[in-house]
Amino acid sequence: QKCLSLIKKTKFLNAYITVSEEVALKQAEESEKRYKNGQSLGDLDGIPIAVKDNFSTSGIETTCASNMLKGYVPPYNATVVQKLLDQGALLMGKTNLDEFAMGSGSTDGVFGPVKNPWSYSKQYREKRKQNPHSESGDSDWLITGGSSGGSAAAVSAFTCYAALGSDTGGSTRNPAAHCGLVGFKPSYGLISRHGLIPLVNSMDVPGILTRYVDDAAIVLGVLAGHDPKDSTTVPINKPLVLSSLEDVSKLCIGIPKEYLVPELSSEIQSLWSRAADLFESEGAKVIEVSLPHTSYSIVCYHVLCTSEVASNMARFDGLQYGHRCDIDVSTEAMYAATRREGFNDVVRGRILSGNFFLLKENYENYFVKAQKVRRLIANDFVNAFNSGVDVLLTPTTLSEAVPYLEFIKEDNRTRSAQDDIFTQAVNMAGLPAVNIPIALSNQGLPIGLQFIGRAFCDQQLLTVAKWFE
Ligand code: GLN
Repeated sequence: QKCLSLIKKTKFLNAYITVSEEVALKQAEESEKRYKNGQSLGDLDGIPIAVKDNFSTSGIETTCASNMLKGYVPPYNATVVQKLLDQGALLMGKTNLDEFAMGSGSTDGVFGPVKNPWSYSKQYREKRKQNPHSESGDSDWLITGGSSGGSAAAVSAFTCYAALGSDTGGSTRNPAAHCGLVGFKPSYGLISRHGLIPLVNSMDVPGILTRYVDDAAIVLGVLAGHDPKDSTTVPINKPLVLSSLEDVSKLCIGIPKEYLVPELSSEIQSLWSRAADLFESEGAKVIEVSLPHTSYSIVCYHVLCTSEVASNMARFDGLQYGHRCDIDVSTEAMYAATRREGFNDVVRGRILSGNFFLLKENYENYFVKAQKVRRLIANDFVNAFNSGVDVLLTPTTLSEAVPYLEFIKEDNRTRSAQDDIFTQAVNMAGLPAVNIPIALSNQGLPIGLQFIGRAFCDQQLLTVAKWFE
């Protein structure tokens, strides 16, 4: 009840696309009954959880924040949603995002941008008054980052205790950093993608947003494991239990030197080095490592992402799902008009780029080459870990959350693609990574750092993150 009333109070944040109040209340009633009758309880019994609106939810509209899927009600639950429900979680609703999870701001969905709850903190407001450049009025608010900004805002505003996001190039870690949350991207293959509407199949993973590492670990424990409906998932043979790390003296932390980019804010840079100093002063070994192909990662991601997008989006043809235009002069005209009306320009732009890279005459030069570069990027990580590093410590974003009006300027759009520099390579390598909130900036806004672990060493990664938290 309390979470539902907070959802209503914070409606202006635009965190939710659909609030599933009736479903949540009914589940809460059942949960209470189980508790009162002394029945065994699930790991998440009675816990309010929100889900990004690109996961299929049986009987609940699933839009991907796109005109294309407005009104689409899936007949089944994504595996992760079903697992949450099976463990007694209360489904609070479906959260806002960039259309089809393409973006880094949560500003591009058809339901409008998500506002960062930290825009309204007392400290930030006081600072803004002193800032002569501040824009006044209703537009004076910060982006959440994205594309899982609705999930981040929902947890940050206490409307739920955990939320599912998705992470293809940073979409869980980026908004977690901007909203002061733990944002966990698991190893590719640890959690089922069945029912997650695909962006880039070879990089997508469901992500987990919570306030504390322990909470993320509990949700991970519920979600992890083989799913016969996702052939890329692997079985896990032991339950995921998070132990406390007493001592970090056996740990080796790698600091990738290529991540010290000129665009990185000086405040984040200094927190990053203070964090490394902290590990060192507690006895951990901290060494500089090289990930030499880092500078290719944004371009490489772009070629692979758009190519997979071009192929994935072909299913939205006006026949099978969601939107269909009124034009009926020919099938081709119907396809074209449906897709023109259904997709925003970001999605259409990616479809065009992807089809360009996949043209017969371009395929070798772009798509195949990008796949080779992807391998080099992934090997950089393997080499770093083979040199004895247990986890890498990096920034998550270039800066703290920026005001909306600044973000939507043309030049900032380019910068926002650059903003994924610390997160995208991890997806191309399939590694686990987590954003941990570390401090508030001079402006009073959250700053996070990222830990990256070896493939399928998610538990070790979260244990280190917990020590640091
Ligand atoms: N910002 C990246 C993109 O737009 C990542 C998105 C994501 O992780 N879903 O593709």
